Formats: sequence, structure tokens, C-alpha cells
Amino acid sequence: MANTLEQLLNYSKQYGFVFQGSELYGGLANSWDYGPLGVELKNNLKAAWWKAFVTHNPYNTGIDSGIILHSETWIASGHVKGFQDPLMDCKECKTRHRADKLIELHSKGKVDADGWSHEKMREYIEINKVKCPVCGNFNYTDIRNFNLMFKTHQGVLEDDKNLVYLRPETAQGIFLDFKNVLRTSRKKIPFGIGQIGKSFRNEITPGNFIFRTREFEQMELEFFCKPGTELKWFDYWRSFAIDFLKTLGLSADNLKLYDHPQEKLSFYSNATTDILYRYPWGFDELWGIASRTDYDLKQHQEHSKENLEYLDPETSEKYLPFVIEPSLGVERLLLAILNDALVEEVVEQTNESRTLLKIDKRLAPYKVAVLPLVKKYHQEKTESVFENVLKRHVAVYDDTGNIGRRYRRQDAIGTPYCVTIDNQTTEDDTVTVRDRDTMEQVRVPIGELNQYLQSKLDL
Ligand code: ATP
Repeated sequence: MANTLEQLLNYSKQYGFVFQGSELYGGLANSWDYGPLGVELKNNLKAAWWKAFVTHNPYNTGIDSGIILHSETWIASGHVKGFQDPLMDCKECKTRHRADKLIELHSKGKVDADGWSHEKMREYIEINKVKCPVCGNFNYTDIRNFNLMFKTHQGVLEDDKNLVYLRPETAQGIFLDFKNVLRTSRKKIPFGIGQIGKSFRNEITPGNFIFRTREFEQMELEFFCKPGTELKWFDYWRSFAIDFLKTLGLSADNLKLYDHPQEKLSFYSNATTDILYRYPWGFDELWGIASRTDYDLKQHQEHSKENLEYLDPETSEKYLPFVIEPSLGVERLLLAILNDALVEEVVEQTNESRTLLKIDKRLAPYKVAVLPLVKKYHQEKTESVFENVLKRHVAVYDDTGNIGRRYRRQDAIGTPYCVTIDNQTTEDDTVTVRDRDTMEQVRVPIGELNQYLQSKLDL
């Protein structure tokens, strides 16, 4: 049975994946912290992306740029003028709404008002008497644009000259460093630059747990290619992205592609596809892939007055490369992975039900749990086995409660292997290794344990 959002939220809180942000002070709305298991899962997701898109990819390389960039960046990129959503307040209960989302909600997803003019949205809301979903009244302010970038000041003076923004995407840092990477990496077109990092958007209506927040992490690739080849590369990265999601274990049934129709494309894009995932509330955007032409480099060239053209070493042609951008949110991926992997399963042998996080071994927060069968008798030996396992594997020690309960806990957090120290260990230096999925147990000599786990985990 599918998970509800509430089940995912409760599960995440119960096991220490995600906590309410600033809970000690009553919580900061729509902000989340990642606990001991959440941070491991996040790191594993980022490592898997980095490996596939950067270090183990023949085309690409990576950078880590600043979160705060020169303010001109956002004028050039169009964010200062155009990165805004249509905001409308309910005059009765003062709730702030995103007008396009309100229409989408009212039409149960049948009407997509993204990109509509304010007049068109106003008209729809009036004709259809779209009431405030919070208080049920119909009394709104006018629709006005609200820029989503967080502003702050750099240095001691809070004047306009020192105005800076927290980046709303990691992509622009890549464009700013395009020339530096080209010069130092010896890359030739086609090649890409990947980056993982925090982004900030002052979303009008954050929500759905970690799906839409004001602070989040992105994994973005800007892939530079020769004009005229961009649609071929667009298809390439689209397939690559879908394959990547499948290798992480997401079920194909829960993935769907949405190709933006021509008339909905941003003015600089000649192809855009969203990879949608079936979240508990329905299909929604997980990953955006856009062919952005030479828009960004051209804008930065114009605003910086620096030539950003590429000189083809073979043909001596000079051109501004076109760009394909696959852009993925870490938290949206994490939510999809948890939703796909979390199942309630009936154990045939005992007819009991168990909570199981059937997560890909690479992503499991802990790879191994090391457990004494009975704390009183086996603790000392277990501690020495644990120390040894830790040399090679991400492992956890647990001696609280009976062994059955401890196995269940490890199943629930997705730990692929449980190593148990029992009476026989003291006699022949072997331990049992229990497999999360099959629950089968085998005896392994302690001297061969790390190697055995290594071969099973195949990381
Ligand atoms: P949406 O339409 O859902 O607001 P978007 O089209 O504005 O998303 P992009 O600008 O394409 O999103 O950002 C690329 C990716 O970054 C998204 O596909 C998503 O995975 C992630 N992302 C964007 N905004 C948020 C957010 N507020 N919270 C969490 N992740 C986000």
C-alpha cells in the first residue's frame, strides 16, 4: 500500500531522518533539520549523483562556488526582474497565496496557470469563485509580483550598494566560473560542470513536508555543447537522468515525463522536460531538464564585458556554447527514495508484519549493525568486533532491548546486514550475519567478516 505524507513525516521523525527546524523554540515554519540517519542518506544521495555526473563521468567536472555572488549576476541572469511568483492575499484571514497554485488546487490539477497573465488569473478566480482554501471566504487583494530571492547586505553598511542575494539556484555560479574551468581543466566542448549546494527561495507557499522549502539543496549540471547539437544532448541527459533514478531503486511506475509544450517554454529555452515522481499527493516535479541555448553565457558576456566565447581548437571556430541543464533537488529525491523504499511487509514464517526500508545498499544510512545477542554476556566481544567493522564500513552498535526488536529496528532503517555475537562466538570466533531482505543468517569467521561484508555490499 502506498505511504501517506503523514506516514512519511512520522517515520522520518521517529527514526531520526528529519526533525522540525528550530523545534526548541516552537519550530520555524517549513524548515527541517536532518538527523543522524537523514544526513547519511542525504550524503549518500549526493555521493551517488556526484559519482554518476562528475567523477565517474567521461564528460564532466565539478566546482563549488559561493552562495553569495556579485549582485550583477542576478541582474544578468534575469532573476532580479523575472524570478517572481504571483502573490495574492486573502483579506479575511491574511493567508498569502500563489495565484497560479490556487487555480491549480481549485481545478484539482486540471488547469495549469503557470505563466498566465495577472488578468487571466484574476478572471479565472472570479468566474469560478475560487474561495480561500484556509477560511473559505472570497475577498482577495490584487495579484502582484513577489520576487523569491532572499536579500541581505554584505559588509557594515546596509545600503543599496552592498545589497547581495542568497543564490536561488547553483547554476549561475557555474556560468561565472565557465572560463576559469575551461582554462584550468583542459576540457573541450562538449563538457559539463556539476555543482551541489544550498539554494534559497522565499517561496510564497512552501509545504508538503520537505518537498517545497525556502532553503534546500540542488545538484545541477550545466552541460556545454556546440550550437545545433543541443537537442541531441538534451535527449542524452534526459535518458541519463531517468536511468540514474532507476539505478537508485525508484520504480519506473512512479516516474513520468512532462515535456513542456512549445508555448509554455521560457523564452530562452528550446526544450524542457520535468521528470515527475508520484509523491503521496500525486505526480509532481522531481527533476527539471532544460535546453537553455546560450542565454546565460550571452547575458554574462554582455553584463561583464568579458568575452565568454569558446575557441574550437580543431576548427578555430568561435562560438558561445549552448547549455543543457539537468537540475535536481536533494530533498525531493530523498522524499521519493523514502516513499519508494518504505514498506510494511508480512513475514511468511511468523505471520508478523515488519516495517522495512528496502533501500538500495549504496544509499542505506548504515551498512552494518553490530549486536550482542545478550548484552550481559556478549558486550565485550561485540565491542571489539564493532571496532573492527568500523575500520571498513559505516556501522552502528546497538544493545538496547531484545534481539528481535533490534533486528526490526535495523530493518526499518534499511540496514542491509546485522552481525550478531552469541555464545558460539566465544567458542569458535564466528558471528552470524543476517540479511535484511531475506532474513537469512549465515555464520562467518570474524577474521573474514569485513571481506565478507565488502563482497556483499559491493560498494
Ligand atoms: P517548482 O515548479 O516545483 O517550484 P521549479 O520549476 O521552480 O520548481 P527549478 O527552478 O527547475 O524548479 O529547480 C530545479 C529543481 O530544484 C527542482 O526540480 C526541484 O527538485 C528543486 N527545487 C526547486 N525549488 C525547490 C524548493 N523550494 N524546495 C525544494 N526543492 C526545490
